[in-house]
Amino acid sequence: MAAPRLLVVGSANMDLVVRAPHIPRPGETLSGSDFVTVPGGKGSNQAVAAARLGAEVCFAGRVGNDPFGKHLARGLAENGVNTDHLGSDETAPTGIAMIIVDEAGENSIVVAPGANHCIRPDAIDTLKPLVETVDFLVLQLEIPVETVDRALETARACGVPSLLDAGPAKALPPDVLRKADIVSPNESETEALTGCAVTDLESARRAADSLLGMGVATVVLKLGANGAFIASDTVTAHVPAFEIQPVDTTAAGDGFTAALAVALAEGRDIEPAVRFANAAGALAALEYGAQPSMPTRSAVESFLEERS
Ligand code: ADP
Repeated sequence: MAAPRLLVVGSANMDLVVRAPHIPRPGETLSGSDFVTVPGGKGSNQAVAAARLGAEVCFAGRVGNDPFGKHLARGLAENGVNTDHLGSDETAPTGIAMIIVDEAGENSIVVAPGANHCIRPDAIDTLKPLVETVDFLVLQLEIPVETVDRALETARACGVPSLLDAGPAKALPPDVLRKADIVSPNESETEALTGCAVTDLESARRAADSLLGMGVATVVLKLGANGAFIASDTVTAHVPAFEIQPVDTTAAGDGFTAALAVALAEGRDIEPAVRFANAAGALAALEYGAQPSMPTRSAVESFLEERS
């Protein structure tokens, strides 16, 4: 089978990661350890993850004309991602994320978007010839919403299916949401979109119904250690997570989203595609960092075989 072709339009950030005994309270100074700089940003994480999972991936985004930007571009290329549409901004710096990881593997993040917020809707117009050639378009919310909206419209006009990872958490107008074929938020993002707090499967079902009510065709809620919940006109299903001891859940959602897009672009049905995505998310949570933790195709396949 030929590799599926994906276009990821989104953010590239340098992650500045530190371990701490707990997430600091306001005014608290903590002694941390293991400081590292790691390539990240939801868009480029998903591009790298999809490439490691065997897709042919093009990443469209923007970095600053600075060392972090050059480092990110090199990292994408080294992972086999096409960077022909990765722009360099002359004024804005490369986006950064400051990430604190606590002893339980939970994280707390501040993002300064920099050049990511300089991707305007007209940049999408120039991508249209490329959109026409891909099997799936993947988007997140770390670039301006107007740009996401234009990209979703362009995909629809080209007959290309789209997956919107609704992170980071923000409220979005239903007329943007319903332009995506699949919307995939995690628990806090689901609450931002619907106002329903997701605490168990019952509340997940209610929140998914609310998104369907806004006109979204297919909803895939990411539920951390509880796996994922699928809702559409034809399918309602909970797909449980794999049991693991997480080390660092940073970017588990990005591994999940990329794997979901790859599996769907390969023609799998939604339930097996979500099981594949749960495996990629679990493997991402077993490694430290964002892009370094994205699993390869063979890692996901061996994990699925072990756990079958
Ligand atoms: P995000 O990283 O966006 O917050 P989640 O925490 O929901 O998203 O994680 C995304 C996916 O990764 C989950 O749907 C699940 O498949 C997998 N995952 C995350 N945390 C765990 C965990 N503790 N155990 C097993 N799988 C996990």
